[in-house]
Amino acid sequence: MVSRRERATKIVATLGPASSSPDKIKALYEAGVDVFRLNFSHGTQENHGRVLGIVRALESEVGRPIGVLADLQGPKLRLGKFVDGFINLTAGTTIRFDADPAPGNERRVSIPHPEILEALHEGSTVLLDDGKVRVRVVKTGPGYIDAEVVAGNRLSNNKGFNVPDVLLPVSALTDKDRSDLFFALDLGVEWIALSFVQRPEDVLEAKELIQGRAQINLKLEKPKAVEHLTRLTELSDSIMVARGDLGVELSLPEIPALQKRVIRESRRLGKPVIVATQMLESMISAPVPTRAEVSDVATAVYDGADAVMLSAESAAGQYPVEAVAMMDQIIKQVERDPGYRAIMESQRPSGGHSVADAVTQAAYQAALSVDAAAIVTYTLSGTTTLHAARERPRIPIIGIASQLTTARRLVLSYGVHVVHAPEEIHTFGEMATKATHTTVEHGFAKKGDLIAITAGVPFATPGTTNVMRLVTIDKAMLSRKPPGASKADAPTPRAAASKARSGGAVRSKPVKTTAE
Ligand code: PGA
Ligand code: MN
Repeated sequence: MVSRRERATKIVATLGPASSSPDKIKALYEAGVDVFRLNFSHGTQENHGRVLGIVRALESEVGRPIGVLADLQGPKLRLGKFVDGFINLTAGTTIRFDADPAPGNERRVSIPHPEILEALHEGSTVLLDDGKVRVRVVKTGPGYIDAEVVAGNRLSNNKGFNVPDVLLPVSALTDKDRSDLFFALDLGVEWIALSFVQRPEDVLEAKELIQGRAQINLKLEKPKAVEHLTRLTELSDSIMVARGDLGVELSLPEIPALQKRVIRESRRLGKPVIVATQMLESMISAPVPTRAEVSDVATAVYDGADAVMLSAESAAGQYPVEAVAMMDQIIKQVERDPGYRAIMESQRPSGGHSVADAVTQAAYQAALSVDAAAIVTYTLSGTTTLHAARERPRIPIIGIASQLTTARRLVLSYGVHVVHAPEEIHTFGEMATKATHTTVEHGFAKKGDLIAITAGVPFATPGTTNVMRLVTIDKAMLSRKPPGASKADAPTPRAAASKARSGGAVRSKPVKTTAE
């Protein structure tokens, strides 16, 4: 039997100093991680490359596709330094911001971004150090602004600052981002996450550089981006509700409704959506989360997210494996609730009038009518399987992907158990046999069960999904040899590892996991 997860909602975990050894990464995977995030705001390229190598070796070892998301830092704005390393700001005082790199003090602060000074106007709010200090611009002049401190605090060197109500004249990709982007593309990651996107052009600019070598995850963390939500979702391949920076720039009580809206819109457009940041924050230093955090993870699942994410909890915390295990348990508990099922069904997006939409919806309806054990989707680019995930079906989706990159990308999607199978399918018979064997081998069906299959005909040509078939798994079906069966003996881990690195097959083989 091949390992499988007993839940539909996926887990993304950020790797960092607390989780960069092969043993730790394997423990995280076994506890439930589906996609690993490399955070380019921290660490060196060399280290990210090393960690990716560990993840790919693990993938070969366990025989299951694992997704990797490289998260670019983006134009995170930072203040300069202070003569004493820090200053104390008091409400009511006035302070000058200028582009002079000389260390600042209580009267003036250096902002090493002259173009930002230009873009600010009287009345603009500037949030310093994640909003702990708030100032309002009272006067602008050549190369400087004067601001009144609205809420004061201690402020140390190089703290970040946010300007929520101004469209900033900066590209979403800095020089560092470009360098990290090409590095990550050469490593062969499946997802590139774009930070601080403000407008559709930012995504187009990234696409121009990426040239289809990876898919784009759009981090929604600027109020300006929310204004273009639909267009940005259409342009991207997946979305992240990046509540960290979003929570600095918007008022916090606005976040829950926005989270729900973004998840609805992503689901409507068939794009996977991740809810991120502070999900189990207290587990950075405690072995159990707060009740509120458990509720927060559960809420994201009830909202219909494809995935929930851990940041510092898994990257730098003291309990990374426990945090993943906790998420895993929360998700399973929610997915067992009949009320959750009712919500997923009632929020099914209407629309989608393509042939692929019609076939996918029909397959799901048919699967429910005959009480099928699974929906099997054959996919080249992943689109067919994304259509199925959009339905948030109550039964598992088996995504059979002929391309390894497609397989790894689909791991992020709701309810999809991905199988990488490079063998070409030529006939309906082969399609049914392969689907039958895969579903049984991976523990999703047994003799006597029915499965629903969607595929595109003619086979092995990219194109739309246009057929649906219901198959009974009977003795005759199980006795047929599926395509590729003669080569089905699992390669040695060493051979599989080198094959996986060179883009070869991830062979399914028995592994031990925490799945019950
Ligand atoms: P970050 O993005 O962790 O890279 O800041 C996520 C967020 O802002 O929520
Ligand atoms: Mn962020």
